[in-house]
Formats: sequence, C-alpha cells, structure tokens
Amino acid sequence: MSSPVTGVIHDLERILLTPEQIHARVREMAARLNAALAGKVVTVVALMDGGLFFVADLLRALELPVRLHTLSASSYQGGTATTGEVKVSWPADVDLRGQDVLLLDDILDTGLTLSVISERILAQQPASLRTCVLLSKRRQRLREVALEDAGFEIDDEFVVGYGMDYMGRFRNLPCIGILNPNKPS
Ligand code: 5GP
Ligand code: MG
Repeated sequence: MSSPVTGVIHDLERILLTPEQIHARVREMAARLNAALAGKVVTVVALMDGGLFFVADLLRALELPVRLHTLSASSYQGGTATTGEVKVSWPADVDLRGQDVLLLDDILDTGLTLSVISERILAQQPASLRTCVLLSKRRQRLREVALEDAGFEIDDEFVVGYGMDYMGRFRNLPCIGILNPNKPS
C-alpha cells in the first residue's frame, strides 16, 4: 500500500532532508537544550504554523519542565517571498517577565520575523532568551537575529514540508524538499 504522501512527494524537484536526517538532528538539538537549560522551567514561545512539527518533535525530546505558548506569525501570505511586514497575533495572557524563554521557529530567512518577536519578548524582561530554529538560510539578513541553535544551514531556496507550506499546502510532508518548478499540480 502506498503512503498517503507519495503523490505529494512527486511535486518535489528534490528532497533536501529525509525524515531520518531531520529526526536525528532534532534529537541532537534537544540533547543540547537539555544540557544548556538543565534545572530550569522553560517557557517555550513557538511560532506557528510552520514550526508545528519541529516544535512537537523537539518538545517531546526535552527532559525539562516546559510551558508552551504558540504564536501565529506570517510574512509570506502564501507565496515564496516575504512581504516585509510581519503579522503577529500575540495572546494577551503571555507574561514572560522573569521566565527562561526558548523561542522556536521553523526557518530563519530575512530575520524579520524573529527580530520582531525577540524584541517583544525582551521588552517583557525575561530572565533569559534562547532562540532556536530548525533551518537557517545562508543569505544576508535584513535584520540580525541572535541565534543559539540552528539544526541545518541550507542554501537560499524555497523549501516545503515538515510544517512548511507553499500556498497553504505541503506542510504534512515528512521530509523537507524543493518544489518542482512545473508543479504543484
Ligand atoms: P523571515 O522573517 O526570517 O524572512 O522568515 C521567517 C518565516 O518565513 C519563517 O518562519 C517561515 O514561516 C517563512 N519562510 C522563510 N523561508 C521559507 C521557505 O523557504 N519556505 C517556507 N515554506 N517558508 C519560509
Ligand atoms: Mg514561520
């Protein structure tokens, strides 16, 4: 029986990272965080929707007490280029004062999203802030971001899968890949 995502994988020009590569790296990242944040209660601020699978996998490998806040941030509005304006829906009940905050996102590209969100977090005077992304694109940033952990450095190409979308699709791919330019169907 073929997997339900087999048809979708045909929309990819190539696979950049297999599920096995992703999971092995996420486990390494969790081990590093377990050591770095040992003894702390971690307040995770996770950016949705792209960070969905990364955050779910990373958090289940953390051996630390965790509080989770999810934020919706978007700057792409469905396409493959940033609009330059970051929209964040920030829940009213998030109070980060004195907390050890772990900020998580799927991918660092121009740096706009994480710089806007880090500024808002720092304005609440947390005890500490550590920022961690699964992917970091090799490119010039529009805004510098202080990044403690990045899973993989990748070339400046538009990727989908493992939570990341194109026009709302492909988030459920277990791998990360580059879209076929003649697709998607
Ligand atoms: P930045 O603000 O750093 O330019 O972009 C960060 C956000 O843009 C990420 O959280 C992600 O949602 C989206 N993004 C950046 N690059 C890509 C990409 O290659 N593919 C997808 N699907 N989203 C991306
Ligand atoms: Mg995102």
